[in-house]
Amino acid sequence: MKLITNGIKGTEDVLPGESYKWQFVEDIMRKQAQCYGFKEIRTPVFEHTELFNRSVGDTTDVVQKEMYTFTTKGGESVTLRPEGTAGAARAMLEHGVYNDGYPIKAYYLTSCYRYEKPQKGRQREFHQFGMEVYGAPSFFADAEVICAARSIFDRLGVKNLRLELNSIGCEKCRPNYHKALREYFESKKDQLCETCLSRLDRNPMRILDCKSPICSEIAAGAPTVLDYICDDCKEHFEGVKDCLKTAGLEFEVNPQIVRGLDYYTRTVFEFVSDDIGAQGTVCGGGRYDGLIEELGGQHTPSLGFGMGIERLLLLLESQKIEIPEPPVCDLYVVGIGDKAKLKAFDIIEGVRAASLTAEGDIVGRSIKAQMKYADKIKARFSMVIGDTELENNSAKLRRMDDGTEKIVPLDENFFSEFFGAYVECNNSKLLEQLEFMK
Ligand code: ATP
Ligand code: MG
Repeated sequence: MKLITNGIKGTEDVLPGESYKWQFVEDIMRKQAQCYGFKEIRTPVFEHTELFNRSVGDTTDVVQKEMYTFTTKGGESVTLRPEGTAGAARAMLEHGVYNDGYPIKAYYLTSCYRYEKPQKGRQREFHQFGMEVYGAPSFFADAEVICAARSIFDRLGVKNLRLELNSIGCEKCRPNYHKALREYFESKKDQLCETCLSRLDRNPMRILDCKSPICSEIAAGAPTVLDYICDDCKEHFEGVKDCLKTAGLEFEVNPQIVRGLDYYTRTVFEFVSDDIGAQGTVCGGGRYDGLIEELGGQHTPSLGFGMGIERLLLLLESQKIEIPEPPVCDLYVVGIGDKAKLKAFDIIEGVRAASLTAEGDIVGRSIKAQMKYADKIKARFSMVIGDTELENNSAKLRRMDDGTEKIVPLDENFFSEFFGAYVECNNSKLLEQLEFMK
């Protein structure tokens, strides 16, 4: 088969046989978001480019190398969102959501676009679940979002995830640290990559996040941010740690974490796994107290995280975590002859109206092929309607797993008979599924 084109490099399709995994994970994310008092926000896939330049930061890899930016027919520069925070913050400000009072707690489930080298766990279109809190200076907020992220992993049964934590200071103490970093990197200037050289003056912390092996090696010997943070930042960091300890969340302080986006202040964190290869960071986040001012709003201490859904699914797969398959077909009805086919159609629609799954032939299969198909889609029950059944106004309802049959009327009483048989054959797994779907 020669197609005129294929999907774009670095993008992935979620096919009908796989989508239940996404839905399962997303359902848990939505549920946990609800438990923590977050409401969904949906923003456009593209924004004015300057929004990301300002918020993500123009010395970051994302802005310097990874954005999908283009000029519209009207001459505007727009960019496909590389992350979810900037759009959410912009929308919150533009619509004056803050007038309803703080905190504002919002979550998003969204696609993101970054022009990166595609590899395992790294695509050009990927998906994030993210949580955002605006107007919450307390360290309890930091602990709350970290616990919320953790709760999703726990609900999914993910194991061996490391929570790594750091504080990268605030606008008061950051200049001292920048000065120390500059002095350190100046002495290794001849070994740094081009991009890092250009960052040395404007934002030396970015060098700590460089993926080039030589820069990372140099960065490993750089002064540690925790030695430079001010007393307020220290107190805040201690508060976060105390909350996490109280909640029984294990963590490691990793002074190397600075995060890839410019807007972070104070707390930064990552959930990292060793089970999915080089791209092991499944979730990253932290505090961004200066972001809202950067976008033209009032000073609004804020924080949040982004969780990569593809990486999370890779993790579930590598840890062999079972995702319940979607409900199978409850009833398959075969109709033989035009009249019986109409009757079958009517019954199928009735079962669907009662929120169960029913199927009949829509591709023109023979009766034998239909029975085979009913088996293949794991129909719980099947029924054949022909002339005799129409005449007697009854048919044999067949339970597919053990072959037992039961005569059922083909009038309005069919439904109560069918539901009776259905409830009888219910197993615990199905009940579990129904429970989950509620
Ligand atoms: P990395 O260091 O792996 O490039 P990042 O610091 O750029 O990650 P963030 O901007 O913090 O990542 O995004 C949050 C999460 O989104 C990441 O932890 C990861 O799970 C996911 N993510 C980021 N970029 C990609 C990508 N290109 N493909 C798939 N998932 C991604
Ligand atoms: Mg990145």
